[in-house]
Amino acid sequence: MLKILKQVDLTPYTTLKIGAKAAYFAVIKEENELKEAIVFARLHDLPIFVLGGGSNLLISRPLKALVLKNELKGVSVIKESRSAVWVEARSGEWWSSLVYFTVERGWGGAENLYYVPGTVGAAPVQNIGAYGVELKDSFFSLRALDLKTGKEKVFTVKDCAFAYRDSIFKNKYKGRYFITSLVLKLSKHPVLHLDYGDIRVKLSEQGIKKPNIKQLAEIIRQIRDSKLPNPSLLANAGSFFKNPEISFTNFKKLQKKFPEIKSFPASKANLLKIPAGWLIEGAGFKGKRFGQIGMYEKQALILVNYGGASVKQALAHINRVQKAVFKKFGVKIEPEVNII
Ligand SMILES: Cc1cc2nc3c(=O)[nH]c(=O)nc-3n(C[C@H](O)[C@H](O)[C@H](O)COP(=O)(O)OP(=O)(O)OC[C@H]3O[C@@H](n4cnc5c(N)ncnc54)[C@H](O)[C@@H]3O)c2cc1C
Repeated sequence: MLKILKQVDLTPYTTLKIGAKAAYFAVIKEENELKEAIVFARLHDLPIFVLGGGSNLLISRPLKALVLKNELKGVSVIKESRSAVWVEARSGEWWSSLVYFTVERGWGGAENLYYVPGTVGAAPVQNIGAYGVELKDSFFSLRALDLKTGKEKVFTVKDCAFAYRDSIFKNKYKGRYFITSLVLKLSKHPVLHLDYGDIRVKLSEQGIKKPNIKQLAEIIRQIRDSKLPNPSLLANAGSFFKNPEISFTNFKKLQKKFPEIKSFPASKANLLKIPAGWLIEGAGFKGKRFGQIGMYEKQALILVNYGGASVKQALAHINRVQKAVFKKFGVKIEPEVNII
């Protein structure tokens, strides 16, 4: 039977270690528990909030809700052809365990996303991306329970409206579904993506000319380890802001003032993406502490809680950074992390 706890502090369930209390809290290990939880929420007129690994969250207020900690586990192969494999994972599985499962077997598509923290179920919510690859590139489908009706729905790639760190689950269907499982379609003859960040540099340092998938995943792990703070040692939620997308005209104006500015292709052909980390660094925040909060010394995009930072301090700092970036560059930066 489902165990529902009252007034549970969510701080330890987030990697940023900032939080507040949930009115009700339950751990979901089986789908029948999820159905029980939906009935409980309906009876008590409570919204449901789905909690994965808490690695993309800033909980800024007490939640008058039933918080469901997702621990639906399991990975299996559901279909295979000569060239592809369809792998299904339940949504509470660690994303990296799923990627490890595929990499170990030489199936390609998700290896550049190795070591992104969090659960499988949260990966489609923000269409996780790293090293030139996004979840949508290997996504096949997902199953989700409608938290209003308790009915199941299957979403294809088209239904999810994936975009840069975005999907229908962050917009139209925000808070509406509990994603219960995900299917990836992986290639048995993958083309590896090596032209992003320091991948080629690391490969050549290690004398690897033609890496296999396992070697590439290991390189990705090493690069991430060297650049990103480990949340169990230094509380953070990864990149705090999205890279802003601006028009070519605005980019040219900026480039005149700041010739060293970099750009990348954006989600739309008439826009360019510029690195938020560069803007934040340019505004003077890299490695600068404001009490217990600040932007990480090796990567200005990462908001770090040095220990015991409050919600108020975090929100004030986010605002401070956004304002300073706008003042210097005229560019608005928006949080990637879910502030609830
Ligand atoms: C050190 C570090 C590095 C990171 N690097 C990257 C990176 O390279 N690329 C990247 O894209 N992200 C990155 N992130 C962000 C984070 O890892 C991802 O966003 C991840 O998918 C969040 O998973 P989670 O389980 O922790 O989600 P949570 O933080 O628990 O939840 C995030 C959101 O998804 C919703 N949600 C979670 N599970 C479900 C579900 N089953 N059904 C419906 N909604 C759900 C929640 O309600 C919430 O709104 C990084 C974070 C850290 C701390």
